[in-house]
This record gives sequence, C-alpha cells and structure tokens, in this order.
Amino acid sequence: MFEYTLIAGDSNTAARAGVFQTPHGTLRTPVFAPVGTQATVKTLTPRDLRETGASLVLSNTYHLYLRPGTERVRDFGGLHAWMGWEQPMLTDSGGFQVFSLAQMRKLDPDGVTFRSHIDGSLHRFTPESAILSQESLGADIIMCLDECAEPLDRKYNEEAVARTHAWAARCKAAQSRTDQALFGIVQGGIFPDLRIASARTLAKIDFPGYAIGGLSVGETKAEMYATLDVTTPELPADKPRYLMGVGAPEDILEGVARGIDIFDCVLPTRVARNGGLFTRQGRLNLRNSRYAADPLPVEPGCDCYCCQNFSKAYLRHLFKAEEILGLHLATIHNVRFMIRLMKEVRQSILAGTFPAFRQRFLAEYEVPNQAARHAQLEARKQRKQA
Ligand SMILES: [Zn+2]
Repeated sequence: MFEYTLIAGDSNTAARAGVFQTPHGTLRTPVFAPVGTQATVKTLTPRDLRETGASLVLSNTYHLYLRPGTERVRDFGGLHAWMGWEQPMLTDSGGFQVFSLAQMRKLDPDGVTFRSHIDGSLHRFTPESAILSQESLGADIIMCLDECAEPLDRKYNEEAVARTHAWAARCKAAQSRTDQALFGIVQGGIFPDLRIASARTLAKIDFPGYAIGGLSVGETKAEMYATLDVTTPELPADKPRYLMGVGAPEDILEGVARGIDIFDCVLPTRVARNGGLFTRQGRLNLRNSRYAADPLPVEPGCDCYCCQNFSKAYLRHLFKAEEILGLHLATIHNVRFMIRLMKEVRQSILAGTFPAFRQRFLAEYEVPNQAARHAQLEARKQRKQA
C-alpha cells in the first residue's frame, strides 16, 4: 500500500508519470483533485464526478470538524461512506483554514487556539488532534498540521518552518491507522534556503509522500515556479509530490514540468459558478452578451455532458435567469476540462512529447489578464472562507 511507482520520466523536464496505490484505488499521476470543501464538490453528485473521470477528491478538515463534527462522519463509516464517494480521498489538516479564516488565532509551540468563523466558539488544534480528526474522517491521504506564513516575510517563515517540522514529527508519532498515507508539508515561503532545508528535514522524518504548501497565496507566478525549481529536486524521487491549492491550467503545466504529481484547487469549480468556463484558448465568461445567440457548445469537441447537449446561448440564459442548472452544467464542464487536461499531460509524458505539449498548450491558452488575475486572487482569498 502507498507505493509510488514511476512509469516514465520526461528527459527534458522534471515531468513524470506514475501510479500511487491507495486503499480506495490506484491514482494515475499527475492527477488533479476537485475540492469538496464540505464533503461535496459543490453542485455535483458523486455520479457526476465519476462521469468526469475524477479519481481523487479533497475535503477540508477544518470545515468538517466544525460542522457536522469529525466524530459524526466517523460514526457513519468515514468520509467515503458519508458522501457516497468510494474512490480515493485526501483531507488537509485544517491548519490552512485556521490561519486564513478562523477568528482570534493564538499560536503556541503546542498548537493553535481559535474561534470558529461560524459561531465564534473556542477550539484548539494540535498536531495530535489534527491526526485524530483526519483518522475519524478516514481519507486515503492525510496531511500534517503545518503553519502557512506570509510568503515574503523572512522572519515569520523561519519561525513557521521550525514549528512545521516539530509538528510534522509529532503528527507522524500520533498516527494510529496504517491505512492512511500521511504527507509532510514543505514550507519556507519564497526563500530557497528555507525550502531546501524544509524538504531535507521532512525527507529525514520519512513520509509516504510530500506536499509543498504556502504557495499561490500572494507571491508572483515567477516566484512560485522558482520555489518549485529548488524544492522538488530535494524531495525523494520514489514518493509522490503534492502542490497544495494550485490548479490554474497554466500552473498545472508548469508544476508538472517541475516534478509535481498531485494538484488540488477550488478554482475550476468556483469560477464555473461565476460563469467562467475553461477552454483550450483560455477562460470564457458566459455572461458576455456575445454568447446570447451562440449555438455552439462551450468547447466544441469536449466530451462532457454539458458540451454534448447544450449551447452557449442556453447556458448563458441559465446564468442570466439564475437557474441552478447553469451552475451544475458549468461545473461539470470545468471539472471534465481539468481531468482531460491531466490525462493528456500524462499521455504526453508517456509518449515522450511533454515539452511539445506544454509549449503548444501555453501558446494557445490565454492566461487571464491582470484584472482577471486579481479576481482570481480574490477568489483564492474567498476559498479560505468556502
Ligand atoms: Zn465540456
């Protein structure tokens, strides 16, 4: 269990294709995980999700701990049974939301005390309680409690990295289930020496997989890519690498090129509910009047239920009329877009053509302009509240 097998590596970049065994099935990496914050990928049933080809779903421990409570989920057989998803799942530790969302956060060497964003009630997470909560939820991949610092604050990152390492060792010691892969999380902001030291320290503790946290939280894309450039070479080649919270299409291509195997991001589903739909040319906005009489699907050639059955004009009508079906269909398309992208990325690695695929994709795909990029950052901030 939890064996990572490298199937093929690209000779020009660090891109790699592999398989990772979990108790609920095999993940073919690189893989993208849609986000199911509250034990549901908003607007989709597990049947819809299966039809998109999704193989891994992420859920948030912070939210489930507060509501309905992790013991409640445990008593219903864990997350898989609770939400009717029998394929692999991943939970975060809850730390990210505590640091970004909870009110009145007080940190000490032993853990963090905070007030719920829902009702102001007082709670405390420690490395041990974060593991206990995730053992109650029962996901296949679970995460160490870590501290995500402002990416550009050197002094804060030095302290956060030290705390993250101490907590990682305690998380490992606290683990009692053997059917969950506990990943360590590399921190260190945009500082190469901190990232390298963090990767090496965690590798010594020896986890079945490693995550890179604290990115896509305010640094530039160039800074994020440069951080990956120095970090992934320090991580063991025989273990999967997970880039947390990153999943814009262009970032996926750049992450894969730097040796990342697992991605998750709320962006595809969040922007779908705002009428933003991914195509190979970039993101289109369904609310735009240019689509009012457009008989074509969102993306001609897409095999998703939305594109196979509906025109852009009809989808635009649903959004203008604020019909729930619009959110559902748009989400189906964006999730399928991401899953199909990952499949093609993986096939190109296997075929030895990843560099050409990456170049072609990035040449065709128009990255949102500054204004849209700003909206994206705002969406990421809201993600913490989702
Ligand atoms: Zn589609």
